[in-house]
Amino acid sequence: MKNKDGRKLRRQGALLVISGPSGAGKGTICKALLRSSPAIHYSISVTTRAKRAGEEHGVNYWFLSEERFQEMRNKNELLEWAEVYGNYYGTPRRYVEEELAAGHDVILEIDIQGAMKVKHSFPQGVFIYILPPSFDELEHRIVTRGTDSESVIRKRLGCVKQELTCAKEYHYVVVNDIVETAVSQVKSIIEAEHCRISRNTAVIEQICTCGSLVNEK
Ligand code: 5GP
Repeated sequence: MKNKDGRKLRRQGALLVISGPSGAGKGTICKALLRSSPAIHYSISVTTRAKRAGEEHGVNYWFLSEERFQEMRNKNELLEWAEVYGNYYGTPRRYVEEELAAGHDVILEIDIQGAMKVKHSFPQGVFIYILPPSFDELEHRIVTRGTDSESVIRKRLGCVKQELTCAKEYHYVVVNDIVETAVSQVKSIIEAEHCRISRNTAVIEQICTCGSLVNEK
């Protein structure tokens, strides 16, 4: 945010945590969001899962050996970590802490277990749960994206009902029926979060000390 003289006012960055069942479209929503809002910084997770066709190290994930993952975990280099569908996933702590300290918004696309750990350490985070419009549609999306084997698909679908019961722990729910609508809802949530009093103490202080956001000449 800038004042009328163009001077930057430091607003605290928001930590945005996006979760939802496999196939709900979190990845699609995050990609669209990052394309249209370049100021949002995406935290690339580490994982021990095998790389899928088309995925790149350092773009989709940092693909690590189990040994390297455990080393990061033991050195407290992960903000959170979880075992999801038989693989380990985690959020590198340093990137998130540095970006937030610089006043940037950071987005984490992580599972529910990880999100609840983040909620514990960052209660000021913004927790958004993405829902599919129906179970049938969810199954259709997972099957047609063709990235997982039959047994992995069954495992992922088997977890969905249990996962949905955790949605109430989040602050917002977005139903991803039409992607553009879902993205615009997430953007609205982010805009509203930017206006929170707790993120704008510098703005309030300036009005209190200077009388306005404009510097008197
Ligand atoms: P996928 O293997 O389909 O890329 O991801 C499987 C699940 O792991 C998804 O629910 C995804 O959100 C979650 N996930 C990805 N990165 C992380 C992470 O850093 N931490 C946690 N806890 N979950 C993650």
